[in-house]
Amino acid sequence: MSLTDIKSMTPEELKERFVRSGLKPYHALQTYRWLSRGVESFDAMSDLPKQLREQLAGEYYIPCAAVERKYCSRLDDTVKYLFRMNDGQLVESVLMSYRHGRTICISSQVGCKMNCDFCATGKSGFARNLLASEMLGQVQAAQADAGTRISNIVLMGMGEPLDNYENVLRFLTLISSEEGMNVGMRHISLSTCGIVDKIYDLAEKDFQLTLSVSLHAPNDAIRSRLMPVNRRWNVEELLKACRYYLSRTGRRISFEYALIGGVNDSRECAAELAARLKGMLCHVNLIPVNSVEGSPFSRSAPERMQQFLRTLGEAGVNATVRRTLGADIDASCGQLRRRYEEEAAHV
Ligand code: SAH
Repeated sequence: MSLTDIKSMTPEELKERFVRSGLKPYHALQTYRWLSRGVESFDAMSDLPKQLREQLAGEYYIPCAAVERKYCSRLDDTVKYLFRMNDGQLVESVLMSYRHGRTICISSQVGCKMNCDFCATGKSGFARNLLASEMLGQVQAAQADAGTRISNIVLMGMGEPLDNYENVLRFLTLISSEEGMNVGMRHISLSTCGIVDKIYDLAEKDFQLTLSVSLHAPNDAIRSRLMPVNRRWNVEELLKACRYYLSRTGRRISFEYALIGGVNDSRECAAELAARLKGMLCHVNLIPVNSVEGSPFSRSAPERMQQFLRTLGEAGVNATVRRTLGADIDASCGQLRRRYEEEAAHV
């Protein structure tokens, strides 16, 4: 008999299963609290009767994220983790320190199917979706390692969260549950390359999370070249979904725009972007593109970034250039795992 993942269950589901197996409902809540604290074995649930712990171990397992490697930036307090899942798959998370607290950027999939031209994750292909428990595991393991509470979460690591929709919804429910880690939705951001049908679905959930959309181009000609997903849902359809999301939730949309020298960073691009976003409650995050091995893209010159920012500002579009953290530890998406696997292959 295969074991069931106990950590992906909501307190209600756990209670129901316990009652069905003739166990006490309050033991379900106790178990849930232990799981939310990140315990890695049933034996560690010291206030549960031994017989119950044994019974649980016969039926369930606890997915974990084990620290495989850890890289600390010497430039700032950024820490990058490479986590190993129970089946040996590796994912990355990045823990960042800001004045208002700790933010963790977690992965939602092992690899990614989206294949954006500038992104390291896509270059290694797609292995599998992460379970809700494995997303929780990244937060818990980083929290335990850092020894402080993590107050903000961004789903902006490896993978496309809306391509793993059901597990991501479950993760959001668990991480924000009051009996659990109790991280408020307002402290969570979800970043998508633009899976439009799921943006509409998410809008109906009444979550107060921030939707971050990886736009990276002002028009279809450039965006389709950089991001294959644009051939399925174009810029107009994507922005329409964003406006709908905003109207349903009242939450300002955040747009990511990686500036790539000579590709999407001209004054005309900035003006076109401003025209398309005009009047929408949003914020544009300009990011100097990180160069990735095997990709021809390089950063825009600083003056060009400033010009881009100015053009948006003059047109009334809210924008900032994102501060780069952990520049010395390859802190961005997918780069670390790739390098680690290449090194391992050479040993
Ligand atoms: N799949 C989701 C979340 C993961 S990627 C998404 O596409 O939004 C997180 C962010 O990093 C996205 O905005 C992505 O476009 C961006 N990104 C990926 N590779 C990058 C690179 N080389 N330089 C700058 N940003 C990059």
